Amino acid sequence: MRELELLRPETVDEAAMLLRAHGYESKLLAGGTALILMYMQGLIRPRYLICLERVGGLNYIRHEPGADLRLGALTTHRAVERSAPVRENWPVLADAFHKVANVRVRNQATVGGVLAEADYASDPPAVLVALGARVRISGPDGERTLTVSELIQGYYETALAPDEIITEVNVPETAPGTRTAYLKFVSRSSEDRPCVGVAVLVRNGHGGVCHELRVVVGAVTGRPQQFSEVEALAVGHQLDDARLKDIGRGYADSIDPLSDMRGSSWYRKQVIAALVPRAIKQAIGDNA
Ligand SMILES: Cc1cc2nc3c(=O)[nH]c(=O)nc-3n(C[C@H](O)[C@H](O)[C@H](O)COP(=O)(O)OP(=O)(O)OC[C@H]3O[C@@H](n4cnc5c(N)ncnc54)[C@H](O)[C@@H]3O)c2cc1C
Repeated sequence: MRELELLRPETVDEAAMLLRAHGYESKLLAGGTALILMYMQGLIRPRYLICLERVGGLNYIRHEPGADLRLGALTTHRAVERSAPVRENWPVLADAFHKVANVRVRNQATVGGVLAEADYASDPPAVLVALGARVRISGPDGERTLTVSELIQGYYETALAPDEIITEVNVPETAPGTRTAYLKFVSRSSEDRPCVGVAVLVRNGHGGVCHELRVVVGAVTGRPQQFSEVEALAVGHQLDDARLKDIGRGYADSIDPLSDMRGSSWYRKQVIAALVPRAIKQAIGDNA
C-alpha cells in the first residue's frame, strides 16, 4: 500500500496551492472525526493529508453588535456551544452544536469540517440554513461566498472545487423578537446522529399573529429542506394547533425522505409531521 504523507501548510494560500498541486490524491484534514474514520474503513485512500492544524487565523468566534457572527472554519463545535455571544444572540446555534454526538467528538469536530463533509445526518446545517448563514471560501483563484444552502448540494456533495477551502461561516443577526428552536429526533442511542432534525425561526406580532416563519428539516434527504409555500401558511395567522398540524403535514408531504438504519422513508414522514409543530411550539414558548 502507498504510504500516506502528512503535509502541514501554515497559510490558507499554501494549503490551497497544495490541494491544486495534488488534486484528487489529497484531502484536507481539520478535526479528523469524519476523515480518519473513512480512511480507517478504507473508504478513501488519499496519498496526501493536508493538515490545517498549523494554519493560523482560522480558529475564532467574533461578534460586534449589529454585525454578523463570524466563526473561523477551525472553530470546534464545543467552542461554539460554549461561546457567550453565541448563547446570548444565537441560542439555537449553540443548542444545535451541543446536540452533536458527545463532548469528545465536539471537542475535535470543526465548523468547516461539518459543512465540507455534507453528511446528510448532521445537526448544524439545518440551523445554519434557517439562520441564513453564508460560508467564505478561499482557493488559488481568490475568494467567494455562498449560502450554506448553496454550498450543500446533495449527499456528501458540495459546491466546493477540489482546491477550495472554507475559511469562515457568517451568521446574520436575527430580527428583534425572533424566537428559535432546534429539535433533534434520534431513533437509536441518545448520542446518535439525527433521524430527523427541525430548525425553526418564528416572529410573532401583537396578539400572537405570525409575521415570519422559517422551518428547515435536516437529516432526511441529501440537503436541508425548506418550503416557503408551507411556511407562508403561518403568516398573518395565529399559530394554533390546527394550523401547526397543517404546516407539519405540509412538510411531510413535500419531502421524499431516504430510508436508512435510523428509519424508513414512511417512518421519517410521520416524525416530520409530528416534530415540525413541536419545534414551532417550542420556539414560541408553548410546550403544552
Ligand atoms: C462518533 C461520531 C458521532 C457523530 N455524531 C454526530 C451527530 O450527532 N450530529 C452531527 O451533526 N455530526 C455528528 N458526527 C459528525 C461530526 O460532527 C463530523 O465528523 C465533523 O463535524 C467533521 O468535522 P471535522 O473537523 O472532524 O472534519 P474532518 O473529518 O477533518 O473533515 C471532513 C471533510 O471535510 C473536509 N474539510 C474539513 N475542513 C475543511 C475546510 N475548512 N474546507 C474544506 N474542506 C474541509 C475534509 O477534507 C473532509 O473531506 C459524528 C461523528 C462521529 C465520529
